[in-house]
Amino acid sequence: MAKVSINLATGSLQKEEIIVGIDLGTTNSLVAFINADKNAQVINDAGKGVLVPSVVHFGQTGDITVGNDAKNYLVTDPQNTIFSVKRLLGRSYHDIENYKDFFSYKVIDDNTESLVKIKVGDKFYTPIDLSALILKELKERAEHALKTPVNRAVITVPAYFNDSQRQATRDAGKLAGLDVLRIVNEPTAASLAYGIGLDPEETKTIAVYDLGGGTFDVSILQIQNGIFEVLATNGDTFLGGDDFDRIIIDYWLEKNNLDKAQLAENRELSQQLRLKAEEAKKSFAHQSIFNEQLGDIWCTLDKQTFEQLILPKVQQTITCCQNALKDAKLDVKQIDEVVMVGGSTRTALVKQMVAEFFGRPVHDEVNPDEVVALGAAIQADIMAGNRKDILLLDVTPLSLGIETMGGLMDVIIPRNAKVPTKAGRQYTTSIDGQVNMKVAVYQGERDLVKENRKLAEFNLKGIPAMPTGFPKIDINFLLNADGILKVQAIELRSGVKQEVEVKPTYGITDDQVEQMLMDSITHAKDDVSQRMVIEARTEGEQMIYTVERFLQKHGTSVTAEETAQTNEHVAALKQALESGDKDIIHKHIDQLNEFTRPFAERLMDQAISHAMKGKSID
Ligand code: ADP
Ligand code: MG
Repeated sequence: MAKVSINLATGSLQKEEIIVGIDLGTTNSLVAFINADKNAQVINDAGKGVLVPSVVHFGQTGDITVGNDAKNYLVTDPQNTIFSVKRLLGRSYHDIENYKDFFSYKVIDDNTESLVKIKVGDKFYTPIDLSALILKELKERAEHALKTPVNRAVITVPAYFNDSQRQATRDAGKLAGLDVLRIVNEPTAASLAYGIGLDPEETKTIAVYDLGGGTFDVSILQIQNGIFEVLATNGDTFLGGDDFDRIIIDYWLEKNNLDKAQLAENRELSQQLRLKAEEAKKSFAHQSIFNEQLGDIWCTLDKQTFEQLILPKVQQTITCCQNALKDAKLDVKQIDEVVMVGGSTRTALVKQMVAEFFGRPVHDEVNPDEVVALGAAIQADIMAGNRKDILLLDVTPLSLGIETMGGLMDVIIPRNAKVPTKAGRQYTTSIDGQVNMKVAVYQGERDLVKENRKLAEFNLKGIPAMPTGFPKIDINFLLNADGILKVQAIELRSGVKQEVEVKPTYGITDDQVEQMLMDSITHAKDDVSQRMVIEARTEGEQMIYTVERFLQKHGTSVTAEETAQTNEHVAALKQALESGDKDIIHKHIDQLNEFTRPFAERLMDQAISHAMKGKSID
């Protein structure tokens, strides 16, 4: 074990290097830092504004714009303008298929459990690539405003983000050229911005209410000894300020005797109306009536009517708060503080109803759309060891994980995780009838295991022979306070189990840890690109395996013509695998998939989709 301050604040890294805090939001993103007066401050680069809309536009000539400039293309060029990418981070198509119509751009449906991709023109992007573009913009703005290189960051994620979504956020950071020191929960960052949880002596239970542009979540946190524990989260991933805007538009349409269908055809007008609605909503902070005209449409609304209109939506958030408390097995009286987060909590009715529900005044002194980034900057400062008053807990100096297909490192416990800690993930087999599985445990930050340090290896034997994708193998990592790591593999259907114990810090010096960290920073970008190629290749290989098996088994149910064409697609994909270009590989996976999809549907055979579910080790 090492204290964070030793490994991160020393060595050849610049001593005075600024570590920034980043709020990577669904609607808006922003970056903050700790200024010379030791206060958290948001960055406003050259007056471009603090909030960077989380929107990326791809131009015809290969030019990429991010932020406000990209937002304008939402109306004029929707297919090439990506918004809400955070909703797709770490998600498979199955996770999002119920709301695929939400996106105006092309989300690839490859009918599998693998992560979604987005097609723009003839290129494929992962949500990681796209988030990296937003992070890069933030990094550049910070560098420009602070006039110093910015290479390290703390990035926030919603408390409900799972392992894969957190890992995707880390990867996006890496790809943007940032060393991500820690992924912090948004509600944790928000409470830090209010100074809640900074005193290790204090024990508190708090509620963080976050109403953003398109999402709502509430988290109940318990803070003890400087550790934030999430007791419960609740919310609605399709409820936010955008709904308020839509409600206002509908109201105006009705008052002006216009119907929705007409508006849908006129994109320009609908965008203008949307902006007017947002303006009206925001204006109620300082006036009680909004009265403007857009062409011959009267845009009139008073605050009282607005509040009546949005009441059901706000009521819905209160129900979520009730449910969160129930899950945390707490009474509303046991909540010590309520923190307001997200631009939409500026709406008076929201504040009022939340305060009423919790029976106490809410914290709204800090700007609600900046509070998360400010807290992330404070966390970054703690990580840098600049706050001597705050006890640094023991953390794992290097990530711990296992080898997956293609020799990739799959991190189970990320570096800088507080110890003791436990984490796990589920895997499956990659070949039909596979009865053994190698579990190789590694330590380090590189994406290829061969660049990391091997700690242990064992074989999980006696997996009952099943088709690929069927066995469910849980790999659990348990790191105790003495730094002993216990790795356990268990096949859930049969119960076969195997485990090993190692001490990751044994035989490695602080200098070596330092060196490994430095290497990972130098190679971060190449590592991620290399990994994406390997992942694409693995996906392609699995696809070929599945299709070839399908033809063997069900060859009689497809025509000779179809078989011949399938074989052509397979051959093309095999050639693409050799190219080492992830876009080419994805293109051919997509083509093969589109071509063979009807066969499977025709057969009503589950095998093909089952066979492709889950990640496999080897
Ligand atoms: P996210 O966390 O989803 O990225 P934000 O916290 O930035 O989103 O919140 C964006 C939302 O806040 C938008 O719907 C915006 O209209 C709304 N908002 C911003 N300012 C105000 C205001 N003064 N009154 C009401 N809503 C506001
Ligand atoms: Mg937010």
